[in-house]
Amino acid sequence: MRSHDPEKMSVTPLESFPPIDQWDDWMEYDAGAWPKKVERRSMLVPTTCFNCEAACGLMAYVDRETLTVTRLEGNPHHPGSRGKNCAKGPATINQINDPQRILYPLKRVGPRGSGRFERTTWDEVLDVFATKIRQALNEGRKTEVMYHVGRPGEDGYMLRVLQSWGVDGHNSHTNVCSSAARLGYALWSGSDRPSPDHANAKFMLLLSSHLETGHYFIPHAQRIVEGKKKGAKLCVIDVRLSNTASRADYWLAPWPGTEALLLLAMARVILVEDLYDAAFLEQWVNWRQFLAAKCPDAEPTFDRFIVELKKHYAFATPEAAAKECGVEAETIVEIAREIGRAGSAFASHVWRNAAAGNLGGWQVARCLQFVAVLVGAVGVRGGTNLHSVNKFVPAPFSIPPPPEVWNDLLYPPEYPLAHHELSFLLPHFLEEGRGKIAAYFTRVYNPVWTNPDGMLWERVLKDEAKIELHAALTPVWSETAQYADYVLPMGNAAERHDLMSQETHAAKWISFRQPVLRVARQRLGHDVDLTYQANPGEVWEENEFWIELSWRIDPDGSLGVRAFYESPYRAGEKITIDEYYRWIFENSVPGLPEEAAQQGLSPLDYMRKYGAFLVEKEVYQGHLTPLGSEQMEKAETQADGTIVKGGQAIGVVAGCVPRVGFETPSRRLEIYSPTMADWGWPEHTLPGYIESHIHRKHLDRDRGEYVLIPTFRLPTLIHTRSANAKWLYELSNTNPIWVHPEDARRLGVETTDLVRITTRIGHFVNKVWVTEGMRPGVLACSHHLGRWRLFDDAGTERWASAKVSCDEIEPGVFRFRRVEGIKPFVSRDPDTRRIWWTDGGVHQNLIFPVQPDPVSGMHCWHQRVTIEPARPDDQYGDVQVDTTQSIEIYREWLDLTRPAPGPEGLRRPRWFDRVVRPVAEAYRMQRT
Ligand code: SF4
Repeated sequence: MRSHDPEKMSVTPLESFPPIDQWDDWMEYDAGAWPKKVERRSMLVPTTCFNCEAACGLMAYVDRETLTVTRLEGNPHHPGSRGKNCAKGPATINQINDPQRILYPLKRVGPRGSGRFERTTWDEVLDVFATKIRQALNEGRKTEVMYHVGRPGEDGYMLRVLQSWGVDGHNSHTNVCSSAARLGYALWSGSDRPSPDHANAKFMLLLSSHLETGHYFIPHAQRIVEGKKKGAKLCVIDVRLSNTASRADYWLAPWPGTEALLLLAMARVILVEDLYDAAFLEQWVNWRQFLAAKCPDAEPTFDRFIVELKKHYAFATPEAAAKECGVEAETIVEIAREIGRAGSAFASHVWRNAAAGNLGGWQVARCLQFVAVLVGAVGVRGGTNLHSVNKFVPAPFSIPPPPEVWNDLLYPPEYPLAHHELSFLLPHFLEEGRGKIAAYFTRVYNPVWTNPDGMLWERVLKDEAKIELHAALTPVWSETAQYADYVLPMGNAAERHDLMSQETHAAKWISFRQPVLRVARQRLGHDVDLTYQANPGEVWEENEFWIELSWRIDPDGSLGVRAFYESPYRAGEKITIDEYYRWIFENSVPGLPEEAAQQGLSPLDYMRKYGAFLVEKEVYQGHLTPLGSEQMEKAETQADGTIVKGGQAIGVVAGCVPRVGFETPSRRLEIYSPTMADWGWPEHTLPGYIESHIHRKHLDRDRGEYVLIPTFRLPTLIHTRSANAKWLYELSNTNPIWVHPEDARRLGVETTDLVRITTRIGHFVNKVWVTEGMRPGVLACSHHLGRWRLFDDAGTERWASAKVSCDEIEPGVFRFRRVEGIKPFVSRDPDTRRIWWTDGGVHQNLIFPVQPDPVSGMHCWHQRVTIEPARPDDQYGDVQVDTTQSIEIYREWLDLTRPAPGPEGLRRPRWFDRVVRPVAEAYRMQRT
């Protein structure tokens, strides 16, 4: 029975949670033994969820007798999630006990893609990759080692590994996810993510569905509810009636791709009705640069700036927006006035949604931030902070130097302003002969399924001349892993170490992911040197894998790699994972050593016990941080208050104090972007509206053309990561096409009827769901479902995937057809015999051509499609794709780019960051 004594509660007042002093030996009665009273005793070990990016706290219950994890709940000590989780958090137990999971390292024994693997040893894996990488480094091929990550789930560890090898080899999934929104935010402030303070807001505007999904789902959802309880109003902009929209005070469903104009119309109302925060704008916006560029003859005063700004946005009337967006003009005005009344207590967010769907989607984020800047809601209580102010990444004991090379496969010259690597174009670049890869690691990354043009991924992954050696680091089978040379089982949330922080609210925190069975054994006094000794089978954790691999790449230290893996406590000896985190917790987390000491614990033991630490609360206004005397040494202050040192602005005087300002070249919020002008996009120097590739004028309604929104998340699944959780698939196992009743009538279809959806490169066949929760003329389909496998014993999990055949029916044209749906099967988990669902959904991404935005590099997900009732030969789940046509479309989009070099012969503006940032000289195209 649980304690309900409030005096013994944990620091977060959950209704009920075991008191801390019983975490090592917590007794409860076995529910399965009822009505007998059978005691079960557990240890409570905290860790961090790994099923989405929010990094919520989890608490594992480890049975003291069997040393198995019996369940996972929320960790009340976690500052972001405060003891709460979504369905995916507790479902981690399914992932631990998954009878289909890969428990040992596997080596391919047939041709790539044949599905034939055999068990191998970690020793062999490490030697094979160490030899290959050492050879590449010795031969100066430092762009041929690539680590391609889907969900990082950690901060900084892997960047350090790649830097220690001296390679420019970090690739990510960000350009199929968030790089458009990131660019929009970064152009304003240099910080690429919003950190809204929902709990203290008076008005919240979301282009997202944070009450059910999104960055950062559970931490945000609870604070949105908190804000609403305190009287804040919520507006949701989404073509789909999401759960979040259903709880909003205002739900706007504009025509997809017009969101930027809708936001500009709100901005215009705020300007015209003088609802803006003049003092904030005058101090912090680069209005002088705006005037100098746009009206060089104008008197350089703030009043004149406002006049000119009103003139510039005169086109964005509510009436014009109403016509373009399909939203009532009065509603736009009403919402703008609400925002004006909320003033700086205006919290807002866009991440994927419209930013990820449209050509020019980065302007959606930029226009949203424009509204926030106008009302002074930047970095203040109740407003929208910069992520860089709230996210806290502590430094490790040593940092390797930046790489000296530039990898054009990651940042090609056509996309100098791309916010992240052009990851989804990698196969196209390899096909064009732009390079090859000697050693390729995919990690929690499934591009064959997740990315557009998946058949091109399949082609290059099978080509041993283009990718010589490929290891899939994954806790679960995937459509991509089946093409790898080695499939390496890595731990899930309860089986590995990582350190994470997210900008979930106005605070800084860290969360420690840890292998709970290893920690439990150590609490009992067992010796465990490496995590795999406590994990199921031979499941490793990546932290230890990279240490071991790096050590073998450079066994004698001659390459300069090994030094970064030597213990900071035992000179010349290999670092242990305890030592890596011990050093960080002792030296890089302010307040942690003191807090730990108060409890008689070492900092590492504190983190092992509580799993998270609040570094700072009530974090606001990072831009007001004063510059220190050392920073001000040899600095000059210009007439406009800009503080310059060594030819670069380092801050701004505000309130007579020198302050750091924002992370832009001007140290101000840049409404006018000189960077856009300098890099060949003078028409986009200001927040503006770019007509999307799926704009109505591009649609032929007589041909039955519609827009397909293929991006929305379900609350219960996460991309291709959650196929190993049976509970989640029992909850969500189909992804029908959302169709408005008017469109359904026009098409002559009803719910469950089959339709054929056709893009420019292929078609799929899916069911419809007729719903009024959809804007007429627009279709939607969730992107999580539609997993497939070619084999029974390799490929995606059987409770999550249909078995399919894949045939080349014409040269370059492939057809996937279902061989069998999901059905019960025999395993050590009796539940697999009780599987009742058969569907699993339809894979849509295969028929999407690549559509890279020429500025941000973001894949523009929304599709122009035709929809028709299924044809006589069509079968549910059919997918057909023409790879010749997909390459044509790649070239069409490539033609939209305006390639580097930019000023000074650079590949990319120097102030634009990169995940692994090479030396400054590498930014230059023609190097001296
Ligand atoms: S929101 Fe859900 S899936 Fe994401 S970290 Fe939190 S519990 Fe895990």
